[in-house]
Amino acid sequence: MGDRDGWIWMDGELVPWREAKVHVLTHTLHYGLGAFEGIRAYKTPSGPAIFRLPEHVRRLFESAKILGMTLPWTPQQVIDACCAVVRDNHLESAYIRPMAFYGDEGMGLRADNLSVHLMVAAWDWGAYLGDESMERGIRIRTSSFTRHHVNISMCRAKANGQYINSMLALQEAVACGYDEALLLDPEGFVAEGSGENFFLVRDGVIHTPELASALAGVTRDAVMTIAREAGYEIRERRITRDEVYVCDEAFFTGTAAEVTPIRELDNRPIGDGKRGPVTTDLQSRFFNQVEGRENTHPEWLTLV
Ligand code: PMP
Repeated sequence: MGDRDGWIWMDGELVPWREAKVHVLTHTLHYGLGAFEGIRAYKTPSGPAIFRLPEHVRRLFESAKILGMTLPWTPQQVIDACCAVVRDNHLESAYIRPMAFYGDEGMGLRADNLSVHLMVAAWDWGAYLGDESMERGIRIRTSSFTRHHVNISMCRAKANGQYINSMLALQEAVACGYDEALLLDPEGFVAEGSGENFFLVRDGVIHTPELASALAGVTRDAVMTIAREAGYEIRERRITRDEVYVCDEAFFTGTAAEVTPIRELDNRPIGDGKRGPVTTDLQSRFFNQVEGRENTHPEWLTLV
């Protein structure tokens, strides 16, 4: 990733991609205390448009606040930086990665008065789980790793260190031959995937875990809005693992995963083992919005 042409926004200016570097004593590199975002820009008839950019930037500021980190930029400056990296790297569609992190002025947990830095990079990224998965659905496995407890890590924050848990779960799932992990919360209820929110469908009603151990996904919110507008009933509640075994359909949502059907959990086919009608409908409504074919939520798209 580090060796390519292009520009990365760092602390207020665009620097050449290969020169966007930090020192090995960067505090966040050692302890994981940082906040980041994952955002997508889509190719639309009016040019590249960033999906729900203000909401992502808001979550970045909220994550930083939860971590006690003061960002020396305004939300508008971060919005402009996200637009700049898509524009100046000449990307038609993109994955955008802002990250706020502490500098290298001190080491140890007690280091204080550390500088706060912000980087924003953007690159071309297709379907996170592959094009075929979007149609066929993925196979997942209940993780042996428990998702965060609300009072151990701060689950509302998209914080760097949280992703150790995600990566342990994902690596285990992939090593066992599955595409993704399903993590349960400390009480054993379904929380989310390693980087996605979870939904199931039963008898035409959509169910999703309430926000406790799961991240407040921007895509989750968009899909719930789209689904309600299309007349579906949605219930946010605690969901057990065996409810997933016997549901009709299941899918993940996320910036990277978009709307990804799940065809199997723990070797049990979900429904008839393929993408179901509700998932298909929501997937197409979602792509119509993000790719600018449907204009019912113009506030969701920021043209770069
Ligand atoms: N849960 C986790 C743990 C995630 O990392 C993500 C991706 N940011 C999501 C859910 C989905 O959130 P969003 O739709 O905002 O990308």
